[in-house]
Amino acid sequence: MNKILITGGAGFIGSNFIYYCLNNNNIILNYDLLSYAGNINNLEKITDNENYRFVRGDICDKEYFNECLKEFKPDFLVNFAAESHVDRSIDDSTDFIKTNILGTSILLDSCLEYYSKINNKFKFLHISTDEVYGSLANDGLFTEKTSYNPSSPYSASKASSDHLVNAWNKTYGIKTNIINCSNNYGPYQFPEKLIPLVIISAINEKSIPIYGDGSNIRDWLYVEDHCSAIYTVLLNGENGETYNVGGGQEKSNLEVVNSICEILDRLNPSSKSGSYKDLINFVEDRPGHDFRYAVDYSKIKNELSWEPKETFISGINKTVSWYLNNLDWIKLITDNKYNLDRLGIRND
Ligand code: NAD
Repeated sequence: MNKILITGGAGFIGSNFIYYCLNNNNIILNYDLLSYAGNINNLEKITDNENYRFVRGDICDKEYFNECLKEFKPDFLVNFAAESHVDRSIDDSTDFIKTNILGTSILLDSCLEYYSKINNKFKFLHISTDEVYGSLANDGLFTEKTSYNPSSPYSASKASSDHLVNAWNKTYGIKTNIINCSNNYGPYQFPEKLIPLVIISAINEKSIPIYGDGSNIRDWLYVEDHCSAIYTVLLNGENGETYNVGGGQEKSNLEVVNSICEILDRLNPSSKSGSYKDLINFVEDRPGHDFRYAVDYSKIKNELSWEPKETFISGINKTVSWYLNNLDWIKLITDNKYNLDRLGIRND
């Protein structure tokens, strides 16, 4: 049984990863600020699990984080804590700089002391994004050797955090890994992101916004496949290495939206007749919108024998069904936190 400290575990990927770890007999401490994106309801099924504990804390609060770290004495830390939405970073980057850059440096400093004085087997695994590499044209894939070239305040802050992790590894010797993954989707994703936004807009018969002409391409990774990759890197990743993780499932935004509408037309036909595709509305593009992301995951495949299991079609069918079966979870967010309004158009 390993003890795993998870920062940002009340968010989308973190909560899926906590379920994954508990199913694999680990002991979890979830340290999360509960920002607008943090959702304690994601974890309600395990509130009484004796191997799981939640503390509310900010990764920028060094004193409190240190106290939790020394009390829990983890074997590993997985850092999911971040401001994660590109559009919000366009509106205001302050919290992105604070949490993603300063927060990561505070975690690294605390963990370095813990690693040096208390547990020299400890490893820090940082979860990052393929967006640090910038944008691709029609051809080519991001490898771990691709130069960093971030476009948005979000991806620039994540790129900075990756550099900090590598610097703490090289300068101070703390054991680290980084995962740069492609776009995740699945249960418990906050509906500011494309896939849950489209599903929830459609269910509510609201207009479905598509940025620009919908031709931007992403490589879609089902969240459970990402969780198995994280777990593999945690246990077996080579010290200091970065691993790219992708789903090998490139789709344009328009293809994604059309697939969701077709599944909903089948599973939950519109009461207002016609297809959910009638709700599609092409809107002003995101400023600085990267055209294409696609990940070469051959390093983790060849070195650690990890591969994604889901195709986009199998994963998106599961995902749409999950949201249809969790309308109360959706309602708590749309009533209290986010009403699906457009973000990321800054007029100054
Ligand atoms: P999310 O926004 O759903 O969750 C982020 C979590 O971090 C929330 O629970 C929030 O409360 C917590 N948090 C924010 N600021 C904090 C702070 N100062 N201290 C402690 N906790 C704080 O994000 P996600 O989609 O689950 O992404 C997790 C990580 O994976 C992020 O680092 C993100 O950059 C990265 N990532 C996500 C995707 C994706 O498609 N979702 C793709 C690539 C990389």
